[in-house]
Amino acid sequence: MSVKFWHDSGVSRVILGRETTLEEIKEIHKRVPNVELEVFIHGAMCMAYSGRCFLSKYFVDRSGNLGDCVQPCRWKYYLIEEKRPDMPLEIIEEEHGSYILNSKDLNLLRHVKDLIDAGIVSLKIEGRAKSVYYQAMINGIYSHAIENRENIAQKKIDFLYKELENKIINRGYTTGFILNEKADQDIENTHQKINWEFCGIVINSNEVKIKSKKLKTNKNQIFIKVHNCIRLNDEIEIIIPKYNVIKIKPKKIINAENGEELSEVHGGQKKIIILEINKKIPEFSVLRRKI
Ligand code: SF4
Repeated sequence: MSVKFWHDSGVSRVILGRETTLEEIKEIHKRVPNVELEVFIHGAMCMAYSGRCFLSKYFVDRSGNLGDCVQPCRWKYYLIEEKRPDMPLEIIEEEHGSYILNSKDLNLLRHVKDLIDAGIVSLKIEGRAKSVYYQAMINGIYSHAIENRENIAQKKIDFLYKELENKIINRGYTTGFILNEKADQDIENTHQKINWEFCGIVINSNEVKIKSKKLKTNKNQIFIKVHNCIRLNDEIEIIIPKYNVIKIKPKKIINAENGEELSEVHGGQKKIIILEINKKIPEFSVLRRKI
């Protein structure tokens, strides 16, 4: 059914299928300029056409077509000959199994301006079941690229793309169908290896309450709620909104509860620590550590 039909029926915004190409988006916008167009730009891709996958509904009664998919396309499958159902053949690509239905993740960072120029008003990123770190990073990078799209240097885009490749879990990236190319999958791995780990989040930078006692930092200190290990001299990056990254190597870790100096702290301890840093850091900035 065409977007024109939906426009004539009174629909004001249409979310385009992931298989729509850039040229088709331009054409749709030309024909129905008053309809707002939204498109998916970053995250897990389906191996099926939009709305044509029933794996999740079939296996666990959670429908992908109602936004409730548990991604069984990433599960392990066997090959069964119809007359020998009790003799499943393993399909082996490598030691962890095979990923015959495993699409790479969509990444349209390099095409943000093209999409907006083509008439897209809403860019959708995948956030369901993702960590705070994932969301901070993807939102920060795309916000930066969208706001600076008219004059951002190619070098900066290349840098941001590398950050997405190397510092956040991903299945390898593809531009999907937007450039009218065929879909891309990785049959050897489910995830790329990354060597950075989310380790903490900045909480109220001036003051925090522990056991009903209010603590204040001086202007060179920030409070961190610890999520994973932080050690003295670790290579740490603090991501502040709009993807500005500040690098630090802690020389002192202070337990906020009792002022004790620590050499390391772990996520399971549910601690709040104070780090010394000579900058104002907004609340909810996230920290990652090189592992
Ligand atoms: S099972 Fe995979 S291909 Fe099917 S809807 Fe879910 S994510 Fe998409």
